[in-house]
Amino acid sequence: MNHSTEVFTLSAGPTMATHRTLAALGQPIMYHYDPVFLETFGRTQRKAAEVFKTKNDMLLMQGEAIVALEGAARSLTKPGMKVLNLVQGVFGKGMGYWLESFGAELHEIEVAYNDAVSPEAVEKYLQENPGIGLITMVHSETPSGTLTDCAAIGPIAKRYGALTLVDAVSSIGGLEFETDEWQLDIVVTGAQKCLAGPPGIGMVSVSPAAWEQIESNPNSPRASYVSLLDWKEKWLEGGAFPFTPSVSDVHGLESVLDQVLEEGLDNAIVRHTNAASATRAGAQAMGLELWAASESIAANCVTSVRVPGDLEHLDIRAHVRAKYGVMLSSGQGAGNLMRLAHMGPSANAMYPIVGLTALGQGLRDLGAQVDLGAGIEAAMSVIAQNN
Ligand SMILES: *Cc1c(COP(=O)(O)O)cnc(C)c1O
Repeated sequence: MNHSTEVFTLSAGPTMATHRTLAALGQPIMYHYDPVFLETFGRTQRKAAEVFKTKNDMLLMQGEAIVALEGAARSLTKPGMKVLNLVQGVFGKGMGYWLESFGAELHEIEVAYNDAVSPEAVEKYLQENPGIGLITMVHSETPSGTLTDCAAIGPIAKRYGALTLVDAVSSIGGLEFETDEWQLDIVVTGAQKCLAGPPGIGMVSVSPAAWEQIESNPNSPRASYVSLLDWKEKWLEGGAFPFTPSVSDVHGLESVLDQVLEEGLDNAIVRHTNAASATRAGAQAMGLELWAASESIAANCVTSVRVPGDLEHLDIRAHVRAKYGVMLSSGQGAGNLMRLAHMGPSANAMYPIVGLTALGQGLRDLGAQVDLGAGIEAAMSVIAQNN
């Protein structure tokens, strides 16, 4: 039984932080109105906007990314407003429950949790249901390991006069993402997925059109932990914080943004792409089946595979962690599947081999038929070609 904390963490976030990130998190805790911290905060906002590829306003909201997502959804939802929610997994489904409770007239396009809502289906829905004011979607449905085509859906939404709210929590910093080019109004991410930072701070970009909607919405939260307007009026316009920012998390966030910008966003994206291709090739060569209905919708930040036979995902996760010291993710509501994540440092060359070996041998230990050798050969040959 391996109780060491020196595990290989290939989970779908929070994931491994680099030494540099840990050192940044350990910097002195400063008074939030110290000029040095004020400068740090402003700089971190600008670096976040660079990683989002946006000229829109950028907010750094403490609390897990969920806080920022809730704030964005509440702020945009006017009572009785028609909102089209795209559902292909757990996070999309959860957004629908929120929207209803915030007073939206909820419209949904829902597909199986291994599939993706197509841009064509969105366009058809908008044609047949005029008056949709907002479209909500999840770029990378982390529990399923699938992608939504935000690049195509953003411009469609604009043509039909709808705003967009995108959950890009597991994408930014590892997957191609173009906030402005894709014409997306509100985009939310967290620090603990592809950026491999601390779980505890969210980033939100807000377009001028989204601000107009938020300011004219009588239900937009104010004087609240989830208020986007407080951040706009107090901080962006007034230079005062709504409350004390989480100083250490801001330090950690600046560091992870520096690391990805120094590496080059494009290089980071290639690294995540390569790790995912090696993992998909290896898993299939072992005889495992990908969870995603097709490789074209498989997200490069996490590879999901169906659990073979009558095994249970939670047992496999526990076994692999206990016996081999490798922390994988399991299904988290999307189905009986195992997930090997490629996020931040775990998207480096040899981590797919660690993940595949631990999963493959773990499955064998539990009685499944797995061709471990063929899987490693296949993954290694992809890695050798790409590096
Ligand atoms: C991680 C994640 C979130 C944030 O949720 P937590 O479970 O609270 O970490 C939201 N959306 C997506 C797509 C995520 O991957």
